[in-house]
Amino acid sequence: MTTTASAPVPRPGVMEISAYVPGKDGAGFSGRIFKLSSNETPLGPSPAAIEAYRHAAEHLELYPDGQATELREAIGAVHGLNAANIVCGAGSDELLGLICRCYLGSGDEAIITEHGFLVYRIQIMASGAAPVTVKEDDCRVNVDHILAAVTEKTKAVFIANPGNPTGSYVPMSDIRRLHAGLPAHVLLVLDAAYAEYVRRNDYETGVELVSANRNVVMCRTFSKAYGLAALRVGWLYGPAEILAALNRVRGPFNMTVPGLAAAAAAVRDQAFVEKAVAHNSLWLEKLTHAFEAIGLKVTPSVANFVLIHFPDLDGKRAPDADAFLSSRGYILRGVAGYGLPNALRMTVGTEEANRGVIEALGEFMAQNGGQA
Ligand SMILES: *Cc1c(COP(=O)(O)O)cnc(C)c1O
Repeated sequence: MTTTASAPVPRPGVMEISAYVPGKDGAGFSGRIFKLSSNETPLGPSPAAIEAYRHAAEHLELYPDGQATELREAIGAVHGLNAANIVCGAGSDELLGLICRCYLGSGDEAIITEHGFLVYRIQIMASGAAPVTVKEDDCRVNVDHILAAVTEKTKAVFIANPGNPTGSYVPMSDIRRLHAGLPAHVLLVLDAAYAEYVRRNDYETGVELVSANRNVVMCRTFSKAYGLAALRVGWLYGPAEILAALNRVRGPFNMTVPGLAAAAAAVRDQAFVEKAVAHNSLWLEKLTHAFEAIGLKVTPSVANFVLIHFPDLDGKRAPDADAFLSSRGYILRGVAGYGLPNALRMTVGTEEANRGVIEALGEFMAQNGGQA
């Protein structure tokens, strides 16, 4: 077909994408800022990772190992996985994009859930496919709704487990039931970005399901519990034939030398991760109780953040709370873009930050009227 466009035109779907809006960083607010908007760890990375990063600075003229061999082997050793079934990416965001580029195209559908991570929708649309959104039950993924949405066009299903921004999780028995109900050619993507934080007996990352099947992959990240968000390191565990596709399409040097080195050191320092998880578990519970005690609803969370629901009352809604907290230096995440206009997501912070938010929200809820 000849085209008469007077300028280059992006592929269908691209201009319909709503660009990702990251959590606010406190710019524009004066005074001390507590950034609790991007699920970054308050403990920073392992000192061993920082040391490895500094060491890597000595030879910046050299290309990285395009196979990320050392990092894949370190991950494999810690998780008991075959390094040949691991591929590393510039954050799991890159890996999610690669999955879409390799497995989705125009005319295809991919299923996501009501409050699912927005990167899925963006990458699905960027590949020319159509995202199909299914309802959640009160911020919980319902696998029956997903199965009911499968059509002949369905090529992939994306689930964050635990979910972001909900913090809820799908028990492994439900994930297995979902997988059992999917046609063999549909790819099930399990995004376990927050897996390190979960302390539930009926939760699993999905490793066994990946090992036993040809149509399941699991994505992980060094951005959250490992505290290396700045370096952009993620990984995916999957069947060899899927990796053969992803490895053809990914950039040959998609990782950086400092990122690879720091991540390898970080994954070997599991004692540090345990400390981060212990801090998180303690405060997850304290924050939830404190917010419930002042009349707020909190979605039960197994991740490193809580989703706080505000009353449907003038002056007490989420945007009012957001403005109130921001003016005191506490930057939370508005989640209207996730279909939750009256909720805020708060990352578990330092003790000081957490106590500060508890106190500030107490004041906010106690003040009468607001704009009413
Ligand atoms: C933070 C997050 C990721 C990780 O993204 P990176 O690109 O690895 O930093 C992936 N999935 C979900 C659901 C997340 O919240």
